[in-house]
Amino acid sequence: MDDGSASKSQASSGRFTNKREGYLEWPDYFMAIAFLSAQRSKDPRTQVGACIVNEEKKIVGIGYNGMPNGCSDDLMPWAREADSILDTKQLYVCHAELNAVLNKNSADVKNCTIYVALFPCNECAKVVIQSSIKEVVYYSDKYKDRPAFMAAKRMFDQAGVTYRQYQPSKKKIVIDFSLIEAMSDCVIADMDSLKINAPTVDSQPDSTS
Ligand SMILES: [Zn+2]
Repeated sequence: MDDGSASKSQASSGRFTNKREGYLEWPDYFMAIAFLSAQRSKDPRTQVGACIVNEEKKIVGIGYNGMPNGCSDDLMPWAREADSILDTKQLYVCHAELNAVLNKNSADVKNCTIYVALFPCNECAKVVIQSSIKEVVYYSDKYKDRPAFMAAKRMFDQAGVTYRQYQPSKKKIVIDFSLIEAMSDCVIADMDSLKINAPTVDSQPDSTS
């Protein structure tokens, strides 16, 4: 009996013959990777990630904010304010955008799009412009009234780098490792269950006659 839902009957019959619905769209995928890489950050206050994507929708660089290579996360300061600026993180931390560009696995990032959680600061705007990235997709612009971010926009506007706020198609993306165990069928075909209409030995012409 037809229940009026193709996907429902497909699921209930155990035959998944049509394309899955609700899969991750490209922009959500790239922004989610930026957010996921931010989870690697040791900064106790601000975790930011960046993901650089080329014109073929291939990821060519990922980064998050952190201390320079060889500078110990345990010895360097993480405070935003201190009696001396030498004891604040500002002078040391490499921002996500810089790390993503420097981590690139391609010759360059010309005409790429960078997905970032926060609108780039002025220093990162320089990196974006000088590396010929053409577009910035950001999630939050919460510091837009600060000079560093106003300066970033000023440079982007003159250099022709476009920027737009990311509009997520879903509010949350959950990664549940255990889901793979619960999936009902195997990616590898069970050869015993396959029926292949290949000619049998008996049906082939008898070469002896
Ligand atoms: Zn920055």
